[in-house]
Amino acid sequence: MNCLECNKALGYTDHKHSMDTLGVELCSEHRPRMTKLIETNKTPREAIQLYYGLKEAGIPSMLEWWDGSKSIDIAISRVKLNIEIDTEYHMMTHEQAINDLEEAMHSFKNGFTTIRIPHVLIKYYLKETVTNILGIMEGLRVHIKAI
Ligand SMILES: [Zn+2]
Repeated sequence: MNCLECNKALGYTDHKHSMDTLGVELCSEHRPRMTKLIETNKTPREAIQLYYGLKEAGIPSMLEWWDGSKSIDIAISRVKLNIEIDTEYHMMTHEQAINDLEEAMHSFKNGFTTIRIPHVLIKYYLKETVTNILGIMEGLRVHIKAI
């Protein structure tokens, strides 16, 4: 078990602590940055897991990317894809739903595509989620070329 950033071997305590708090393997040097990000932006830990899942698949993405009006959980800039992790979709109110739709509209107007992924999907189907995002990226790339 090694740190996902620097590949440093993790001891039992380090590994357990990292998995308990972030759900990914990071050493004591690389953990604080993520912990701070979570505290500042209320980043769902599934966003961190997806970020590293994408990284493993060779896709560079940005965590908590500021698009000018709000912070996006994960952004893949080269295909203008924004990914938001839904953590409480089962309790969604009308107001949240219309806000989400409006945000999606603004993103589209700016040439960005926004997809929303339920956090449980990342928790239980990370590989499949990454595979589908790869497919979406492929589609977006073709679309961007067409314009
Ligand atoms: Zn490290």
